[in-house]
Amino acid sequence: MTKIVEDITYILKNKGNKKIVAQIAPAVRVSIGEYLGYEPGTNVIGQLIGSLKQLGFDYVFDTNLGADLTVMEEANELVHRLKTNTLLPMFTTCCPSWYMFAERLFPELIPYLSSVKSPQAILASVIKTYFAGKIQVQPTDIIHIVIAPCQMKKEEAKRPELWANPGVPNIDFVLTTTECVELFKANFIDFKNVTVADFDNPLGQSSGAGAIFGTTGGVMEATIRTAYNLLSGTDLINFELTDIRNTGLRREGTIELAGYKINIATVNSLAEIKPILEELKTTGKSRYQFVEVMNCPMGCVGGVGQWTKDPEILAKRREALFVYDKQHKYRAAHLNEAVKQIYSEFFGSIGSEKAVQIMHTHYEDRTQEEQEHFSCKIEDNK
Ligand code: SF4
Repeated sequence: MTKIVEDITYILKNKGNKKIVAQIAPAVRVSIGEYLGYEPGTNVIGQLIGSLKQLGFDYVFDTNLGADLTVMEEANELVHRLKTNTLLPMFTTCCPSWYMFAERLFPELIPYLSSVKSPQAILASVIKTYFAGKIQVQPTDIIHIVIAPCQMKKEEAKRPELWANPGVPNIDFVLTTTECVELFKANFIDFKNVTVADFDNPLGQSSGAGAIFGTTGGVMEATIRTAYNLLSGTDLINFELTDIRNTGLRREGTIELAGYKINIATVNSLAEIKPILEELKTTGKSRYQFVEVMNCPMGCVGGVGQWTKDPEILAKRREALFVYDKQHKYRAAHLNEAVKQIYSEFFGSIGSEKAVQIMHTHYEDRTQEEQEHFSCKIEDNK
């Protein structure tokens, strides 16, 4: 048994007064089933939550709601930069491999990165502030476990600048998809026959926009759905922006966004983003206004915390997320009732002082830290 599985098993059996909380990343629900007897691309979210509940988790929340909150702040940031024509292109920052790469190799471009935390970091921050207050416990009495498709999310969880309470980590453990399977097997969970369950509220209700964060192009598409509303006061008639979805290493084009003509690119590899960064660094200019960067093939559905990089299997996971998006009552973050409730009860408004304090972060020049890890990742994706 790996140490993390041993530790979590022990904690679940000896939790005392602690509340054990999980959050599940978008991609995990369409990948974990493969290792527990389902066809690739099967969405097993009900069994996944049911299995965690059977293990003794007190609350299971959805990182997709964190994605919705990321969208609210990031769409607002994009609109501000477009209106003022400053710091363009804006780069998304949901992928830690990417922003850690930028901190080490292109620190002079840090101002172009979105300052909004990733969905993982935002939801964890909300759990250890808003939710802790709601159930009247101290943040230190919550043991928070993230289930993610990504090894690098373990590194992200260690960054103090992402914590909502000084000195108190938001996240106590990050369990990859493969480690989560090991946790179930070690504890004899009969995944296929478990009683299915739903997310707990209020942090379990998300939009379809949050669901598509699990594949490349999803962050941009979700952000544009809400940025359009912020700019025009109306909603897109067709929420699906299939032209900007990306299965290759780079996809680019031009879109009309409520009066703004913007050049966009979605990039699936750190090697592929380098020429865009070199041009911006050298000339101070770029032909793009908005760029999404992910490290893994097809985004988080291809994360290295899972077993395969088979493109056919990744495509099935990806397609399952698009189907999941369609099944949601709300297709855009700003329409999600849970998002409205959290802003109304806690943050006040988009971009408020409290929203910035809890949902935004900063990046640092880390050129002195080792770069080999990131060089290896570039080679992997060629
Ligand atoms: Fe992690 Fe890969 Fe997703 Fe980046 S693209 S967040 S490295 S799984």
